[in-house]
Amino acid sequence: MFITVGLAPDLEEERAELATFVHDRISPFADAWDRAERVPREFVSELAERGYLGAAVPGEYGGGSLDAASFGLLNEELGRGCSSVRSLLTVHSMVAQAVSRWGRPEQKEYWLPRFASGESIGAFALTEPGAGSDVQGIAAQARRTGTGFVLDGVKRWITFGQIADVFLLFAEVEEAKAAFLVPADTPGLTVRPISGVLGTRASMLAELHLDGCALPADAMVGRPGFGLSAVAATALELGRYSVAWGCVGLAQACLDASLAYADEREQFGRRLRDHQLVQRLITDMATGTSAARLLCQQAGALRDARDVRSVHATWMAKYFSSTSAFRAASDAVQILGASGCGGEHPVQRYLRDAKVMEIIEGTTQLQQTVIAESVYHHRTPVRREEQQTKTMTGARR
Ligand SMILES: Cc1cc2nc3c(=O)[nH]c(=O)nc-3n(C[C@H](O)[C@H](O)[C@H](O)COP(=O)(O)OP(=O)(O)OC[C@H]3O[C@@H](n4cnc5c(N)ncnc54)[C@H](O)[C@@H]3O)c2cc1C
Repeated sequence: MFITVGLAPDLEEERAELATFVHDRISPFADAWDRAERVPREFVSELAERGYLGAAVPGEYGGGSLDAASFGLLNEELGRGCSSVRSLLTVHSMVAQAVSRWGRPEQKEYWLPRFASGESIGAFALTEPGAGSDVQGIAAQARRTGTGFVLDGVKRWITFGQIADVFLLFAEVEEAKAAFLVPADTPGLTVRPISGVLGTRASMLAELHLDGCALPADAMVGRPGFGLSAVAATALELGRYSVAWGCVGLAQACLDASLAYADEREQFGRRLRDHQLVQRLITDMATGTSAARLLCQQAGALRDARDVRSVHATWMAKYFSSTSAFRAASDAVQILGASGCGGEHPVQRYLRDAKVMEIIEGTTQLQQTVIAESVYHHRTPVRREEQQTKTMTGARR
């Protein structure tokens, strides 16, 4: 049971449908996928058939063209079942969004219907061994040739890189950053699986080695100099929104598990739910989850209104949701005690997944600096007479 503010009746219907799908087709299998470090290909096809993978693709290309509220709901519900599955939706949607916004007409015509149907899976390849938070430091190089480009470099931690059909990949061209669509079967591209990751273990991470990859000139998305500031920014903005909602689902899963366990388990002659210190953990978890959901709803409303403040609101939503999800997961393990540490219960997966949420799409520390800068940028200018009052009293009226 959770509180949702302003959820329209059609969204309630959507939530019910998604919740049934997650309950039947994801939750019972997510621990096994986590152990196997893969999501089965048949399940990816099922996601595609249900139209979930095409959620961010415009309707004219066969996609769902979902508004921010519905896309948020989809991410929340998938995130409640399995953060790795939600990650697939995130990266695939990021690529689709960037191509929709910045792609040439031929790139849109070719890729978007394939992204919409799930025939092609897109992955986002920005991070490198030497460039994480500081994306300006990417070292992959694209050299111009008579017919296009030749790419060299290494990309690491690429979500669903093991099964992606195409990578939205960033490299330097003549000292400017640019984005390219690199099909997975491009000669010279080697995809190496990464295993043993802390969380989102089923997200089939890969390292990409580009060794003289020849691409045609029309593989570039946008133009040189726009790679990070426009193409990557568009993708990351959607990625943060998606992860923020996924974290709401993750926190909700922690709350649900804690409520169920504390209701049944007895110690010292009372149910755990009747011990005040356990009640405090549950109160913090419920309040954090609701607050995170509200911040996500605010970011979504601004996104739908194409309000420039949506960027700032999305940072706040991702920061709060990811830190809340990690706290909720840690407290859920605490409430379940040894059962929470064992492999039989998903809360230990939730905890591992929640830690990853504080690292991807902008680390917690990066958000802590960016949000502060943004608050200064967006603050309402203080009028002259207010400034005088502030100086006199030490506080604004
Ligand atoms: C499971 C997983 C999936 C991923 N999927 C993808 C993907 O699909 N595509 C992709 O391109 N990348 C992906 N990444 C990479 C991810 O985007 C990076 O891990 C992230 O950007 C952080 O970079 P880093 O790990 O190199 O950490 P670093 O940038 O090296 O940071 C290390 C630590 O230093 C702190 N730090 C860094 N700079 C500052 C600063 N200025 N002020 C204060 N603190 C700072 C960070 O907050 C962090 O705590 C994935 C990572 C993981 C773990």
